[in-house]
Order: sequence, then structure tokens, then C-alpha cells
Amino acid sequence: MDVEALIEGVLAGDRRTVARAISAVEDDAPELEALSAGIYGSTGRAATIGLTGAPGVGKSTLAAELVRVARAEDRRAAVLAVDPTSPYTGGALLGDRVRMQDHAVDPGVFIRSMATRGHLGGMALAAPEAVRILDAAGYEVILLETVGVGQAEVDVAAATDTAIVVLAPGMGDAVQMAKAGILEAADVFVVNKADRDGAPDVAKELKQMLHLGEARDWNPPVVLTSATAGEGIDEVWGEVREHRDQAEASGALAAKRRARLLREAESLAAERFRAAAARALDDDAALAEDLVERRLDPYAAAHELLRRASS
Ligand code: GDP
Repeated sequence: MDVEALIEGVLAGDRRTVARAISAVEDDAPELEALSAGIYGSTGRAATIGLTGAPGVGKSTLAAELVRVARAEDRRAAVLAVDPTSPYTGGALLGDRVRMQDHAVDPGVFIRSMATRGHLGGMALAAPEAVRILDAAGYEVILLETVGVGQAEVDVAAATDTAIVVLAPGMGDAVQMAKAGILEAADVFVVNKADRDGAPDVAKELKQMLHLGEARDWNPPVVLTSATAGEGIDEVWGEVREHRDQAEASGALAAKRRARLLREAESLAAERFRAAAARALDDDAALAEDLVERRLDPYAAAHELLRRASS
């Protein structure tokens, strides 16, 4: 498929083309740069929401419920389930697929799993481009669901406008979350499986831990939900909206988006330079030899590699 057709299809919201474009991101395909350039002007409109939490807490179920609320407001919605650690797109990733399947026939909903495959910078760099593709395709609400609570997942979730951290009784307590550095990344906390014993205790422990932290412009609320029963979902949606409204009004959202774009460009440059440097060292036996034989010190070699990469 040529790049022009890929760009046109994405901008027209053609589902199959959107799916292809996301595959191109996963593979770090050669047409990715032209695709990015072609759609960038049509991005920045969607509200992006991250869903992070230990496996099994109910992220997929919640995502499906949030999509339902978005659709009730007649907004087009996409769910991107990302696994930062796996090179394979896992079918199991979307968890409660039955619930997701309810949306599968709705043309206003796009659901997709994503793995790292060939992308140089890993998921932290691949996810934002995939989100922009969905944004350019006209999805107004984009849910970015991650599989677990590792650093890569925190990075991915932090790259959204509103990050939801999900907990459930008996599945990774607040102390563990604090250690994973995930508490600071959250804008809204959800304690799911409120139909089970222990949910109020999880919420209480969480609130206590949050009080220990410094007061901020936005104090993340803790919402109890029972996703399978569809309970508490409207409240989560209300908090997401409130967070977004406040962040928009204070300029925090613009600042966050700006910082995120600068960091992304910097990381992309670093990854591309690293690849170019490795290639140059592989290809230029004389340069490598000079280094090894102590005719060229590592700093001078690095300087030479930088010079070549930027020429
Ligand atoms: P994920 O791995 O975080 O995406 O979790 P899933 O959404 O796949 O949910 C894991 C399991 O928990 C599934 O069997 C869900 O049906 C179940 N589950 C999700 N939400 C609730 C809830 O509110 N209460 C109860 N009892 N089970 C739930």
C-alpha cells in the first residue's frame, strides 16, 4: 500500500487502513515517517485516557464500560491495549472480550491490541504515534490500556491526558503501587470489584497514602466501581471530565502535552542516532580498529559518530 493511500485512508477514518497504519507503527515500517508527517496536522483533538493496573483488576471491563458511556454521548471511541513487554499481540490482552465484542459491530468504536515488534524505541515511542493515528481518524475518546504495572506501562499511561490507575481487592495493594512509582502518575484512582469484600479497605489505604503526598493543584479522586455490574462508571467518567476541564483551564494540559512532544522528539532522535552509530561502527572497520588500537579515544570516536549522523 502506498503512503498517500495510507494517509488518505487514515484521515477518512477507514478502519482497515487505520489497522494497517498501526501495524506500520508496530513494525517501525519505512513508510512511518511519511505517514506521521501526513497526519500530524490533523491530530491533537482527541481526549486520551490511560488505564493502568495489575493484570485482572478489571481494566478491559472498565474500558468497555467507558466506551459505552462515550458512545451514549455520541462520541467515537477507540481502545488501544498495549503490552510493552511482549513482541506479540496477545489475544488475551483484551481480557473480557465478550464485553468488548458488544462494541465490535459498532462503526464508531475501534478496538486493537498492540505489541512492540520492530519499533526501535519500544512501546513508549510506538504508542503515541498509534494514538495520533486514531486521533487523525476521528476517534474523540482514546483509551490506552496497559497490561501490568512495570515502568514501561507507567511511561505509556503517563503519556495520556488523564491517567486512571485501577486497583482491586487482593490484587496488588497501594504500597506496591507506590513502589512502582505509579501513584504519582495517576489523575484518577479506581478501586474496582467493589462488589467484593475488601474494596473499601483498599480505597481507605489509598486515600491515606495520598494524604501523605504533597498537596497538588489536582488531588486525584478515588472512585469505587463494579465494572461487571456497570456501577460507578458514570462517576469515573465525571472525574475524568472534571480533571480534563481543570487541566485545560489551568494550562496544565497544554504544558503536559508540550512536555510530552518535546520528550518524544528527543527520544526519537536519540534512538535514531543510536541505530546510526551502531551501523557506522559495524560498517567502518577502520574506525573501530582505530578505537581498539588506541589511536582514537572513545570521546573522539563518539564525536566522529555524531558528526557522521548529522551530516
Ligand atoms: P484486566 O486484566 O485488568 O483487563 O481485567 P479484566 O477486565 O479482564 O477482568 C478480569 C476478571 O475480573 C474478569 O473475569 C472480569 O469479568 C472480572 N471483573 C471485572 N470487573 C469486575 C467487578 O467489578 N467485579 C467482579 N466481581 N469481577 C470483575
